[in-house]
Amino acid sequence: MFASPIARLVQQLGKLPGIGEKTAARLAFHILRASPEDAAALAAAIAEVRQKIRFCSICCDLTEADPCGVCRDARRDAGLVCVVAQPQDVLAIERAGGYHGRYHVLHGVLSPLDGIGPDDLRVTELIRRCGQGGLAGSATGGGEESVREAILATSTAVEGEATAVYLAKLLRPLGVRTTRIATGVPIGGELEYADQLTLARAIDGRRDM
Ligand SMILES: [Zn+2]
Repeated sequence: MFASPIARLVQQLGKLPGIGEKTAARLAFHILRASPEDAAALAAAIAEVRQKIRFCSICCDLTEADPCGVCRDARRDAGLVCVVAQPQDVLAIERAGGYHGRYHVLHGVLSPLDGIGPDDLRVTELIRRCGQGGLAGSATGGGEESVREAILATSTAVEGEATAVYLAKLLRPLGVRTTRIATGVPIGGELEYADQLTLARAIDGRRDM
């Protein structure tokens, strides 16, 4: 049996995603061997991230300042909102460049098997944002354009697809155009390795060139 401070640390680390009991113990002993400064810096970073990072009141992304940088950026199209599952997806799209609209972060996808329903996601915030038109800018000092298009950019796996279908049904009556990200053959990918559904969608989703 571990001494109780170690056991507590192992227990806390074991709550992290992808960390089993053995890995948690390995990390705990690593922290024990680290310098007191490094261990304190890790503890401080954990405390700081919880204190300083909050949800953007407009797009629900994680941010230090509310509204977040993207929502405050007047050069970005407020009428175009890309709906994603996770904050990491915003980073990925920003890294790719070329997108000049705003975002909405759901913080998950619908997954009935895991007990995740609409109330567990930032769906109400999205509906409110899309439904309130000219009022949407109250947090940024007014003048915000109403949402005219929502790009549903949840994953193309089953849960992401079901989430997109669900959101499209809610958004359409609000007069918001709903679009789905295109799916297709990865750049540089060989057709023979693409699965049937991907290939079928790549053909269905073809566009003029
Ligand atoms: Zn924001």
